[in-house]
Amino acid sequence: MTTHRVNGDRLNQTLQELARIGATDAGGVTRLALTDEDRAGRDLLRQWMEAAGLAVRIDDLGTMTGRRPGRNDALPPAQIGSHIDTVRQGGRYDGALGVLGGLEVIRSLNEAGIETDQPLELINWTNEEGVRFEPAMMASGVVAGRFTIADVYQKTDRNGHTFGDELTRIGYRGDAASRPGPAAAYVELHIEQGPVLESRDAPVGTVEGILGITWIDITVTGHADHAGPSPLSLRHDALLAAGRIVNAVREIAARDGDPVVGTVGRLDVEPNLINVIPGKVTLSADFRHPTERGLDRMVGELETACMRIAKDTATAIDLNRFWSILPTPFDPALLKAVDEATATFGLPAQRLWSGAGHDAKYIAEITPAAMIFVRSQGGLSHCEDEYSAPDDIAAGANVLLGAVLATSTGSGEPNPD
Ligand SMILES: [Zn+2]
Repeated sequence: MTTHRVNGDRLNQTLQELARIGATDAGGVTRLALTDEDRAGRDLLRQWMEAAGLAVRIDDLGTMTGRRPGRNDALPPAQIGSHIDTVRQGGRYDGALGVLGGLEVIRSLNEAGIETDQPLELINWTNEEGVRFEPAMMASGVVAGRFTIADVYQKTDRNGHTFGDELTRIGYRGDAASRPGPAAAYVELHIEQGPVLESRDAPVGTVEGILGITWIDITVTGHADHAGPSPLSLRHDALLAAGRIVNAVREIAARDGDPVVGTVGRLDVEPNLINVIPGKVTLSADFRHPTERGLDRMVGELETACMRIAKDTATAIDLNRFWSILPTPFDPALLKAVDEATATFGLPAQRLWSGAGHDAKYIAEITPAAMIFVRSQGGLSHCEDEYSAPDDIAAGANVLLGAVLATSTGSGEPNPD
């Protein structure tokens, strides 16, 4: 079997060219969804897609799909996608890597004269970041049936502009018939945005899925009192209880090991004065786990811990689990294809979970999906210092190419015609 490779230099140059649109002085990018910068980025991407022979269609959410015909064009397509919108003062790679990595895959297939049985589609999803219009992953969410188009059109930015009006203004309001449909496979290449691959000295990783998240509000009620005359044994110290809850959250998460995490990120103390025993503390817990059962178990363990802490500290503790999102495991066969493609390039197959959301999360509900992560320097992202080395980027795109070819039977060799 021939091992096909992308042109890594061309991919890195293309990434830097797109990064000029919305470039910031500090080397980052601000290209918020449906702004003039987004339009300019889309126009350039469209030119590149058409030059690579793709038939480009725009749907009613502004999502761009470039299609490369297959030998049997009636087969469901294999899709490659991500986004080119960024956060404010974001980086050059988040999202852009997946779209332009896919473009490089198409360019490389063209050059090698390789046809695939099934058609290939390259997708740029509108408003993945959800910075200008909330929530995130908006277009992929509509395609997966999570949001309605009417809802999305009415969303406003901080200046009162609606999504629908801005989409029309930049000239990217297409029709519903042009939406990407369910496919044979969806593969998204993305920077890791975390430190795991760097800690393992690995350029590329296979993403097993996206962690589920649950958020809990915790209220501790004690009794505010003078810090001097109150003996320790007679206190109802809400902050003492809260401190033990912080430890409990950490211990509960640590019990399951990576990639499970638990965080207390918010804590409000009342009255928050140097000589007063805290009477009330509100704090938060954020748990992330690869399984729904695991999430439920962590919450149960926190409830048990809080009952014990309340007794020990003579306080009352109230828990409110107010928001959850289920984990998304990716398609096992596709993950195997990514592992195998990784091994083809002499790289160790690395499995890891994503703690952040991506378009692949919603698409996994309608299409077998997988993601490939590329090492992020320092684990940094959503900032101007976001960086992945050119060799790592090329490695990620090579794995993408290998995985996409593996999803198309009978492909991988040049057409004899
Ligand atoms: Zn992204």
